[in-house]
Amino acid sequence: QVVTRFAPSPTGFLHIGGARTALFNWLFARHHGGKFLLRIEDTDRARSTEEAVAAIFDGLEWLGLGGDEPAVFQFERTPRHAEVANQLLAGGHAYRCYATPEELAELREQQRAAKQPMRYDGRWRDRDPSEAPEGAPFVIRLKAPREGETVIEDAVQGRVVVQNAELDDMILLRSDGTPTYMLAVVVDDHDMGVTHVIRGDDHLNNAFRQLGIIRAMGWEEPVYAHIPLIHGSDGAKLSKRHGALGVDAYRDEMGMLPEAVLNYLLRLGWGHGDEEIISRDRAVELFDIAGVGRSPSRFDIKKLENLNGHYLREADDARLAALVAPRVAARLNIALPEGGQELLAAAMPSLKPRARTLNEIAEGAEFLFKNCPLDFDEKALALLDDSARALLGKTADALAPVQSWTVEAIEEAIRRVAEDAGLGLGKVAQPLRAALTGRTVSPGIFDVLFLLGKAESLERLSAVRH
Ligand code: GLU
Repeated sequence: QVVTRFAPSPTGFLHIGGARTALFNWLFARHHGGKFLLRIEDTDRARSTEEAVAAIFDGLEWLGLGGDEPAVFQFERTPRHAEVANQLLAGGHAYRCYATPEELAELREQQRAAKQPMRYDGRWRDRDPSEAPEGAPFVIRLKAPREGETVIEDAVQGRVVVQNAELDDMILLRSDGTPTYMLAVVVDDHDMGVTHVIRGDDHLNNAFRQLGIIRAMGWEEPVYAHIPLIHGSDGAKLSKRHGALGVDAYRDEMGMLPEAVLNYLLRLGWGHGDEEIISRDRAVELFDIAGVGRSPSRFDIKKLENLNGHYLREADDARLAALVAPRVAARLNIALPEGGQELLAAAMPSLKPRARTLNEIAEGAEFLFKNCPLDFDEKALALLDDSARALLGKTADALAPVQSWTVEAIEEAIRRVAEDAGLGLGKVAQPLRAALTGRTVSPGIFDVLFLLGKAESLERLSAVRH
């Protein structure tokens, strides 16, 4: 059975690169009918925070990428990590190193001066621990192979080789008995039954060291798939200024839908022909490691926005209304009136066609809840000159007698006003839009009138007519 995992360190928010790693692991597990597990790598006690753990869970839940079992917290497994270190010691695959910090600093200084790579030299590898002073502190180090090479057949990177002489005897257990990150990852992956390790290629170097521990324990080796990192649109490693924000920012600040973010992340580094719009189900069906590219992908916020626009148009209107309502309220600094959300849902077909984010929908929906007299923007105000205001008076007179307030009846009345004035429909619609919405862009004018209702429409018109 395939088992994958996502193993974030809770030192910040769930960023977009982490979310993509989680997605690839989730998809791979789903595609193979396997399991997707979560592990919170919280052994760095100084930097791990509860808020970060909460943000990670929250982001994953929003994206629908929850684990199939309760998350494993790495720090709680410290005794188990120590147990494995001691097992390696007992089996002769590890040794106690009593080198003092001063000694090691001196070694590093010598290596620096000789321009040699800084590496532990194995000075306690073959020494008898009885040579150490009574009760002296020690660390446990792996007795790594010194000859030959370590090869990884990486599912993304291909064959990657490192000379064993380049890998020194790494620490497994510190002198205070705490495990190192390298040991913890390997033990946890093994105990969790992880078969495929899919993660950022910044961990490729770690994989060689981790393999050393796996082989010393005689454990089964996982398949590694190290995926290229995400870069900004300028090719530099993705950072905050490129939009490397927490997933929550895409939801809250930018107004994205989770399905759009998922589709975007999927296409960021993975492809299937030139399909751009790929639903979650289709992705489960298609996903494979072979489709992961070897070069870094570039983050492109415009593409994400366009995808989001697509998913907005597909989305259920009541769902969108619920997402947009608080945004409209916040923009206008009001509480929406009763029935406001229903009105938004009814207006959604007119509001969403050109929008790319929930914020744009909210902006377009403001007119529905503004109070009379409206605050006109500059361009709208410029349209409301004397002749326009006179025309708006005629329009109001034509609308007043309309009995059943339907889009068709409204259209008929407006067309008649245009005809009587010898004007094109646009010439009537422009000032009308300005008068009714305070802006020069809005949904179709008949829809605007319909959605506002007769009374509100006439009130807004009478506020500007001469
Ligand atoms: N905790 C590591 C990170 O957040 C990931 C470790 C792994 O995937 O092996 O970068």
